[in-house]
Amino acid sequence: MSDVVISLFSAAGYDRAAQGITGAARRLAESLGGRVHAILIGPHNPELSIRMAGLADAVIAADQAELAEYQPELCLAALTQICRDLKPAAILFSNDTYSQELTPRLAHRLGGSSIGDGIALAAENGVLHVKRSVYGGKAEATIALKRSPAVVWLRARAFEPLATAGEFATTVKQTNLVLPANDRTHIVERKSEASGEARLEDAAVIVSGGRGLGGPEPFAELQELAQLLGGQTAASRAACDSGWCPPSWQVGQTGKKVAPGLYLAVAIRGASQHMAGISDAKNIAAINIDADAPIFKSCRFGIVEDYKKVVPLLKEKLAALQK
Ligand SMILES: Cc1cc2nc3c(=O)[nH]c(=O)nc-3n(C[C@H](O)[C@H](O)[C@H](O)COP(=O)(O)OP(=O)(O)OC[C@H]3O[C@@H](n4cnc5c(N)ncnc54)[C@H](O)[C@@H]3O)c2cc1C
Repeated sequence: MSDVVISLFSAAGYDRAAQGITGAARRLAESLGGRVHAILIGPHNPELSIRMAGLADAVIAADQAELAEYQPELCLAALTQICRDLKPAAILFSNDTYSQELTPRLAHRLGGSSIGDGIALAAENGVLHVKRSVYGGKAEATIALKRSPAVVWLRARAFEPLATAGEFATTVKQTNLVLPANDRTHIVERKSEASGEARLEDAAVIVSGGRGLGGPEPFAELQELAQLLGGQTAASRAACDSGWCPPSWQVGQTGKKVAPGLYLAVAIRGASQHMAGISDAKNIAAINIDADAPIFKSCRFGIVEDYKKVVPLLKEKLAALQK
């Protein structure tokens, strides 16, 4: 009961989130005196398998045909069976929507306890303590997960990757589970987000737009600015709810938690629910016409001006610098 399991979706590869939870798992297993088991769910990804074979003590590829596409009931059944055998102290997930969906359900099936959005982990007398933000990022709480296993999804980028691969040279074991018939869920339609873009949670620079932009068109200009900065575009909930940009762009308490080096908020007021998503940003900058907008309280750099005057100038300067 001192081992740590990490659950990864093969399709995501060894992204920043996978690196973070692998690092977190290894450090936690060391403090518990246990081993790290990686479960890779979905079609075989050779690169990820090889990578994890060097980082974990044991790798289980749950790549059987029934798990080729994400189906919560089947994933849950597979994870429950594997984890019942392994009897780990902790099971760590990433912060993608699938993992967030599976975390509490897996904890319930295993008779354990769960929490989400962990930003630090510590084991004390065999009990996992998880730190997370509360009150919209204004405070931090440490929660003791007393019922084992502790099932937790972690905030991307909150945990450092392992500096080097270990000497584990594990062989990858393939599952051959008997999964139940899935008559509860089926895929009706699949809509892909714009391809080729990294996850917002992994972006080093984010240019984000709010309701003050006044409509969908200015987002095209923000995208151009983001491209010049080598970053990505995001939005406040007000802008997403207005249908000006995809819901997947939403940052905040009910959106994505991001941690870029630079977060440029354009015409965003800085409501506490928005700020909850950017508390890990290294630098926040804002352009807002209202000098009293709350966003300026958290800003390293701020410009009190109409975005329509500032954004074109910024683009011009950045383009000139890149010539
Ligand atoms: C339970 C709950 C969860 C929520 N979750 C989220 C969440 O995850 N993410 C989120 O973002 N919100 C969330 N909200 C909503 C949040 O409270 C705010 O309503 C929202 O963040 C406001 O978005 P905004 O700043 O874009 O819009 P507004 O509040 O309308 O602010 C627009 C800003 O644009 C400025 N502006 C206007 N014109 C210009 C101009 N020409 N140039 C420059 N600046 C200009 C204004 O001065 C103003 O500061 C949540 C709310 C609740 C109750």
